[in-house]
Amino acid sequence: MACPYQVCEWRSPEDLTKLLDLELGEAGQAPAQTLQHCRDAIHYSVKTNHPHFFNQLYVGLDHYAMVGSFVTDATQPSLIQPETYLITFQRFPEVKEQGLSACPRLVLFTSEECHYSVAKAAAFLGIGTKNVYVVPADQSGKMIPKELEKQIRTAISEGAVPFMVSATAGTTVLGSFDPIEELADVCEEHNLWLHVDACWGGAALLSNKHKHLLKGVQRAHSVAWNPHKMLMAGQQCSAFLVRDKTGLLQRCHSACASYLFQKDKFYDISCDTGDKSIQCGRKADAFRFWLMWKALGTRELERRVDHALEMARLGIKKRDGFRLLMEPEYTNVCFWYIPPSMRKIPDSPEFWQKVEAVAPKIKERMMKTGSMMVGYQSHGINANFFRMIIISPWVSTKDMDFVLDEIHRLGADL
Ligand SMILES: *Cc1c(COP(=O)(O)O)cnc(C)c1O
Repeated sequence: MACPYQVCEWRSPEDLTKLLDLELGEAGQAPAQTLQHCRDAIHYSVKTNHPHFFNQLYVGLDHYAMVGSFVTDATQPSLIQPETYLITFQRFPEVKEQGLSACPRLVLFTSEECHYSVAKAAAFLGIGTKNVYVVPADQSGKMIPKELEKQIRTAISEGAVPFMVSATAGTTVLGSFDPIEELADVCEEHNLWLHVDACWGGAALLSNKHKHLLKGVQRAHSVAWNPHKMLMAGQQCSAFLVRDKTGLLQRCHSACASYLFQKDKFYDISCDTGDKSIQCGRKADAFRFWLMWKALGTRELERRVDHALEMARLGIKKRDGFRLLMEPEYTNVCFWYIPPSMRKIPDSPEFWQKVEAVAPKIKERMMKTGSMMVGYQSHGINANFFRMIIISPWVSTKDMDFVLDEIHRLGADL
């Protein structure tokens, strides 16, 4: 069948690196250049939908499936993916061939404010959720290093083997940052792998003003970061960074499938990262983020992070009836709305019992009006509160005011 384009437009990896100008810059670039990057990406991509593409167990994409992909990209459904296996492997390489029976009882540590994916990873890796030791956090949601040490001693006294600490940079509820520097000291002393879950908070590193939140992150053995969150790179776009330079990923994950990863290819195969990853087929998630970074420049990303944090800090200052749970450290603004009828009641169990019912009621009205969406939840001893997450660079003080006005409008009669 005649086809107006070739299956591929072969270039060596070195030539492509030159052709595509991959370097990211401080400043953004003109839209025409960004458009050219798109054209180049299309031009140099293998046309997997070409009628002469017989290379793999798939060809291209049905046109409807492609439309479906546009839709899911626009609507952003969500998945989950943890990385604990690598860390187990690093300590006990036998695990790859012999399974967990080659290991003693392994224990990992994380704070009570951690993301649920830590427990989920422990479950499906066969480590077991009971071997995730939950370290208490202080009032602002940060893991307490002294408590971590206590738990490590407990695990050792039980005959278990502590192997990793998962610190959180940007907790899900409060947006708190664990004290990485101090946790790194503890990890060094006990020879533990320090993983920093910076899925949510990692973007702060782009900001000169706020990167101190992750002070000590360079001492971590691994870091997870989701540019699809604060930076809006689109689901899924997750980076897993490993400090190791000895080919750990390769040793841990490779299956050496000879039908995909031939060692005798005619070009430099060090760019074939497929065998190092957990999945086989997956989308080129990094491309969207790279293109976006390329188009906007580092300075613009920094400006966006700074803006979001600034909006979060302005948040609900000096408003009657609004009470912050704590000063936001990141862009999680957690607050209660107290309707006028409750404002004279002194702090007491009865007061908080009444407050507990406020956010769900306002949320219901909010959803039914469709005017906006702000989440709520209870947390520890704290009665239901609103948790407003600020990300969009287009949120202005006007929008912040709107949210507060609207909450008041919806809840003033409660
Ligand atoms: C979102 C999030 C995760 C889960 O990341 P996915 O890539 O969606 O699986 C893990 N940890 C933290 C702190 C998160 O905010």
